[in-house]
Amino acid sequence: MESQQLNIVFLPYPTPGHMIPMIDTARLFAKHGANVTIITTHANVSSFQKAIDSDFSAGHSIKTQLIQFPSAQVGLPDGVENIKDGTSLEMLGKITRGIWMLQDQIEILFQDLEPDCIVTDMMYPWTVQCAAKLGIPRLHFYSSSYFSNCACHFIRKCKPHEGLVSDTNKFTIPGLPHSIQMTTLQLPDWMRNKSFATGYFEEMFESEERSYGTICNSFHELESDYEKLCKTIMGIKCWSIGPVSAWANKDDDEKKANRGHMEINNIGNEQEWLNWLNSKPNDSVLYVSFGSLTRLPHLHLVEIAHGLENSGHNFIWVVRKKDRDEGGNGFLQEFEKRMKESDKGYIIWNWAPQLLILDHPATGGIVTHCGWNSILESLNAGLPMIAWPVFAEQFYNEKLVTEILKIGVPVGVKENKLWASFGEEAIVRSEEIVKAVEILMGSGQDSKEMRMRAKMLGDAAKRTIEEGGHSYNNLIQLIDELKSLKKSKALAVKED
Ligand code: UDP
Repeated sequence: MESQQLNIVFLPYPTPGHMIPMIDTARLFAKHGANVTIITTHANVSSFQKAIDSDFSAGHSIKTQLIQFPSAQVGLPDGVENIKDGTSLEMLGKITRGIWMLQDQIEILFQDLEPDCIVTDMMYPWTVQCAAKLGIPRLHFYSSSYFSNCACHFIRKCKPHEGLVSDTNKFTIPGLPHSIQMTTLQLPDWMRNKSFATGYFEEMFESEERSYGTICNSFHELESDYEKLCKTIMGIKCWSIGPVSAWANKDDDEKKANRGHMEINNIGNEQEWLNWLNSKPNDSVLYVSFGSLTRLPHLHLVEIAHGLENSGHNFIWVVRKKDRDEGGNGFLQEFEKRMKESDKGYIIWNWAPQLLILDHPATGGIVTHCGWNSILESLNAGLPMIAWPVFAEQFYNEKLVTEILKIGVPVGVKENKLWASFGEEAIVRSEEIVKAVEILMGSGQDSKEMRMRAKMLGDAAKRTIEEGGHSYNNLIQLIDELKSLKKSKALAVKED
């Protein structure tokens, strides 16, 4: 008799903001009885193999399947296989080309592994055809907010920004239950200027419509209006199963292992930041992070440093190592020294154990670039935010956080720009930073209310992944539906 166990293949896109939540999702499927295979490359697997090994030892049926990244063919050094390793536009182009070239190897694996279903990142639109050829469902993995998906959908369809006199004129996003305004300058470049990327993104959104459905790392209590809009007007079959990071990583060791930071930071450093946080009063520290990709030029770093220092509040700031090398004549090292002396600030170089910091009682707020995972993770910890979007869909997320959920203050960024194309001009001045920090970390009514709403959403985030919660039920329902599909397929084959 054929096994009733679901055989599911996951294909993550190699950038932390997409890969981390997909690995967490794959682990959740395995924890709920599926046989899971994750396809990835050698350099990428090192950041999460530990978590997979530990799940496997706990009796879950989960493994990784490695493919060879074509480093030499695209002219990249060995080990550079992730978007986060791209330090320039040229390098990003090469990494993207390398990922593109994996298609043949992946298609062969899809055939060999004989999955009942594939769950592939939104960045792989071509996998819809693979699934069709194999006669199996493809689930589109969308790693950002429902709100961003809806906003992008209606702007693409109705083009409210076209015909405006200036890039800085405001337009209202059509089709949404809230009245939200933004400017053309805040849209991603592929929407403002037609290019190769425009075709690629259009294909990506169409592939969602042609997929069996979409897995969304969000939860009903957070964005029910937009979950509904996605299902009804946009006609997408969606399952909200988030926040997957809180669900899949319930203890500290898992939180660390899942993010590969043990390889990057040494244990000594880890003890130091923890001791520093332990010495601070509850809710007094602002965590400042721009995610896994953004690299800021020297002048931006200077404004941030002055803004944080002048605000007078405690902070932990994550600075990418490559930022440090860029012509600052030791400015940041001096700053770090000064902050150590005053005991006001702590710099973490390169990669922070973000979940652990956010969950620490001393942490009282976050400055975020509005990457969806960071928003969910801080929300899960009940923290209010300063919204500092940089590129991609982060400007939509800013609107969700500041105007709809009302759990954050905008720092006032005017232009959506890929970090690799930043000029030396500063986009946000230190005075603006001070203003936002004072509102968020101060004791005013606005801060209290934002903090209270964030806390309530954090509680909802915890409940939704427990047995009987919305996200929990959605995952179980999706697994059951895939099992029924498998069964009917097997029956149809028998009857033939
Ligand atoms: N992250 C981390 N340490 C860092 C920077 C990022 O653990 O120093 C993790 C963070 O917790 C999140 C992911 O990397 O899970 C970043 O995803 P997000 O969507 O926030 O932003 P992106 O990096 O895609 O811009």
